[in-house]
Amino acid sequence: MNSAHTLLSIKGLEIDYPSRDGQGRVTAVKDLKLNLAQGEIGCLLGSSGCGKSTVLRAICGFEPVKAGEILLRDQVVSSATIHLPPNQRKVGMVFQDFALFPHLNVLENIAFGLQHLPSKQRSSVALDWLKRVSLADKADAYPHELSGGQQQRVALARAMAPEPDLILLDEPFSSLDIELRERLAGEMREILKANNITALLVTHDQFEAFAIADKVGVMTDGKVLQWDSPYELYHKPVNRYIADFIGRGVFVKGTVQSNNKVKIELGELDLEEDRSKQVGKEIDVLLRADDIQHDDNSTMQAEVVRKTFRGADFLYTLKLASGTEIFAFVPSHHDHAIGEKIGIHLVADHVVTFSD
Ligand code: ADP
Ligand code: MG
Repeated sequence: MNSAHTLLSIKGLEIDYPSRDGQGRVTAVKDLKLNLAQGEIGCLLGSSGCGKSTVLRAICGFEPVKAGEILLRDQVVSSATIHLPPNQRKVGMVFQDFALFPHLNVLENIAFGLQHLPSKQRSSVALDWLKRVSLADKADAYPHELSGGQQQRVALARAMAPEPDLILLDEPFSSLDIELRERLAGEMREILKANNITALLVTHDQFEAFAIADKVGVMTDGKVLQWDSPYELYHKPVNRYIADFIGRGVFVKGTVQSNNKVKIELGELDLEEDRSKQVGKEIDVLLRADDIQHDDNSTMQAEVVRKTFRGADFLYTLKLASGTEIFAFVPSHHDHAIGEKIGIHLVADHVVTFSD
């Protein structure tokens, strides 16, 4: 566990909006809890409309809170009765569209948030931040002369320059090319880490979330269902929704054999948790695409029913003898035809199971 100082803490957060008919209120965020330590990068991951931006706006102080608390450095900044104005929170925000000023050059954009400094110092501090995002040579350029990725780095430098305690980023990659996003997420992580900046971003893309964040919160319907490291989310999802949402997998039926063994169609698997009370009972076993290995020599066979080329590998959908369909990532030089039967192995560890 991280024993570093907690920078952001949210407890029991609830936020609502007037309903569309104007008659009542609708809940956008409820019972939301998370903690972010100094220097950590967090990410709220969820589909559109689940309440991600609402949470960020509330942390900035742009959205009143109905219940619960938001604490920054142990100080309550938002609750039902307390509301610290945005300009007193030391929180910086990077928006989806970067929101750079089109009529100011790159250096002026960054210097804009440094009004508290004498003007001479302003340019040198701005230039220093521009260096930290590797764009010192673009100081005189205007935003429209930069690529999307460069504009994003300017927006990040502008948010970092006033040295806020926390930076919030709302879908920072969504207006960029899909192929670029994962790389840029990695670059952004390096910049944030190099400057020891605490950040919380939101996205609907799990690959982005995993590429950038130390902690990810899977959100649905205004709630964070699990707030954990990407590794824990993948290997120890707390419920079926998360198991299904993260990665590519399917649930297959298994019969509990003993306290720590479950039998599925493809063989026996070791269980992580004690199931001695359920011996003989059926449970659901998550089989991920990376739990199934293709092996031309294996006697265990499955039929290729669908395949998606992903470059380094194929995502095969395979049908087992029982008719159950599972996924498998297979190196792309194994280009088997649809309808063909191929050999497979089960290589699952960290088996995820659920019972009712
Ligand atoms: P996300 O960022 O995850 O897409 P939002 O936080 O923007 O989600 O929105 C969460 C829910 O709150 C949605 O149902 C949205 O329609 C509603 N909502 C957001 N902002 C407002 C607003 N200003 N007035 C009324 N409803 C809103
Ligand atoms: Mg949003």
